[in-house]
Amino acid sequence: MRNPHAGEPFDTTDEEIAAALLDVSIPTLMLSLVHMTGDLNLIRGRLKPAGLFLNEVQGYMSEADKAEARAIALDVIRAYRDAGCPEPRPITADELHEMMRWLVCQDVPQEYVPMLLEEMELSGEDDRWVDVAGTAEQKAAFPVVVIGCGQSGLLAGIRLKAAGIPFTIVEKNPGVGGTWWENSYPGSRVDVGNHFYCYSFEPSDEWTEYFAQQPELQAYFERVMTKHDVGAHVRWSTEVIGAEWNDADSTWLVETEGPDGVRSTLVARAVISAVGQLNRINLPEFPGADTFAGPAFHSARWDHDVELAGKRVAMIGAGATGFQIAPTIAPEVAHLTVFQRTPQWMFPNPNYHETVGPGVRWALRHLPFYGRWYRFLIFWPGCDTGLAAARVDPDYSAADGSGQQRAISATNEFTRQMFTDWIVGQCDGDEDLIARVVPDYPATGKRTLQDNGSWLRCLRRDNVELVQAGIDHIEPDAVVTADGERHPADVLVYATGFQHTAVLAPMRIIGRDGVDLREMWGERPAAYLGITVPWFPNFFMMYGPGTHLAHGGSLIFHSECQMRYIAHCLSELIARDRNTMEPLPERYADWHARTQAEMKGLVWAQPTIEHTYFKNAYGEIHTASPWRLVDYWSWTRELDLSDFQVA
Ligand code: NAP
Repeated sequence: MRNPHAGEPFDTTDEEIAAALLDVSIPTLMLSLVHMTGDLNLIRGRLKPAGLFLNEVQGYMSEADKAEARAIALDVIRAYRDAGCPEPRPITADELHEMMRWLVCQDVPQEYVPMLLEEMELSGEDDRWVDVAGTAEQKAAFPVVVIGCGQSGLLAGIRLKAAGIPFTIVEKNPGVGGTWWENSYPGSRVDVGNHFYCYSFEPSDEWTEYFAQQPELQAYFERVMTKHDVGAHVRWSTEVIGAEWNDADSTWLVETEGPDGVRSTLVARAVISAVGQLNRINLPEFPGADTFAGPAFHSARWDHDVELAGKRVAMIGAGATGFQIAPTIAPEVAHLTVFQRTPQWMFPNPNYHETVGPGVRWALRHLPFYGRWYRFLIFWPGCDTGLAAARVDPDYSAADGSGQQRAISATNEFTRQMFTDWIVGQCDGDEDLIARVVPDYPATGKRTLQDNGSWLRCLRRDNVELVQAGIDHIEPDAVVTADGERHPADVLVYATGFQHTAVLAPMRIIGRDGVDLREMWGERPAAYLGITVPWFPNFFMMYGPGTHLAHGGSLIFHSECQMRYIAHCLSELIARDRNTMEPLPERYADWHARTQAEMKGLVWAQPTIEHTYFKNAYGEIHTASPWRLVDYWSWTRELDLSDFQVA
């Protein structure tokens, strides 16, 4: 069978091919040419990318070099087409490694290569798929409940279905997508490039934008769910209230509440929680909020019936969500007041709102492995360099005589200057605005935002005001700030984020000996590898504590690692007729202690970063990952049974 990534045969004319090549990433194209010809000399000459930066997909090649590459490409593609698009010859491991280094203009250490090859799936094989062992009878006796049908719950469903394990997904919303179902606010889009932010085994050549908007993301998950026939296993509009372990017969009793309020109990041998970390809304209690006379809603509960045109809108919050809402609604509203507590660091991404041209979509569909190399190109810059840059240099702090912690290392100071230049360069010398939009905490200390200029263009509009003063109270038709100023409003939007640190809330999960998981955790949620917890047999988490990604990668990548690991666990339980498995308490405690120690040396944990959704009441971070992607991938690749108590 033809490798699915080898491209579909085509009869596109020379003129159409030449037009398509005007759109594509030239370095990526050149690697596709290598596949078509099997000739590495195509990349061993003068034509090569000159550098790498996140989302810079042309490798800083000059216009002249790109034109020369296109001319070569036209000849190669024409010959490939006329030969009937033959299946490319396999490329050796050394050649692939050379191609990786060439594309990103730097060394790609050997330890990353297997992970990247798996992510790229050049073999056409889904290498993260684990065939759960056991007979059909053994599997039939092992029903699994998955909580949530966002990207990770859907992935769990796809894997369980293919493994022949009976399962039910319980989803509180009426449709698939999780965060991409709920966050339908104007301007909602992903900020990880979509040709990477999709399952490795389900690439799409249909993205219309490089960073797709919410309807397209939700449609992607819908399409994948239909293709893998998972929908029939989902109980929609049904919420899991809690789950209790029954030691007598080694089952979980999962209590659900359906749309009609009717409660029922599902019996499962294992539970996979896939509830995410950003879906329980944070609604600060401002005095007088309930007296507001107009419509008021949270960004994740957007009321699409409210007409904003001509209205005075007050938006509280200027994080990732506020950054997307304000520029989208500003042109239609009469007036927009943005209440910002802390300015955000943002970095330039000219592609942020760019559409994917028809040439790129043609290349993704027809040029062998073009999409696979493009995936690698946008994955690699976020592959652990962000984590290295987030590390505190204790000597640097001592050397910085500013008195204020502006940076945590020389690299971080460089980043601060680069981001500052990007922000200040858009302010047209407006010192008052500069003072309000340039953060005073170390760069990347909160989740850094992508920007193509739309945020500052929005703030500089005549009908937009950025307010930095704290909110004192809310009146029926205004927000009143601590300086006593009234800001009249007809509509109030809370872009105030989520209760990120309250992992698994509000569910009540009761494990062995009646241990309540959230009580046991208190403010410090933890799980071994972010997946399993002692006293909670056969309970697995995807996107669990310590796995939120602030330094790069994508949550889909993490989910694929986690589901592979969970599939290994299920294999052990099912094929060997085990009743239970749970991590050894000492492994769990050791993992948590090491994770905390690692986290303390990273920028996000710095005490100068006061307001950040990562931190708990004690200023500690238990939800985000301080680990390299390659380490997490390697730790979750196989199951080490000596970490577990298996009965
Ligand atoms: P967020 O980053 O937590 O931002 C919440 C905003 O509300 C901040 O400006 C925060 O101020 C403000 N706020 C919260 N409580 C407040 C209070 N009591 N008084 C005044 N201001 C208050 O939430 P978010 O913007 O919804 O984003 C959350 C996460 O969702 C992101 O980091 C990202 O992981 C994800 N997300 C992703 C995308 C994307 O992919 N493009 C888009 C949206 C969201 P402080 O900064 O001072 O705390």
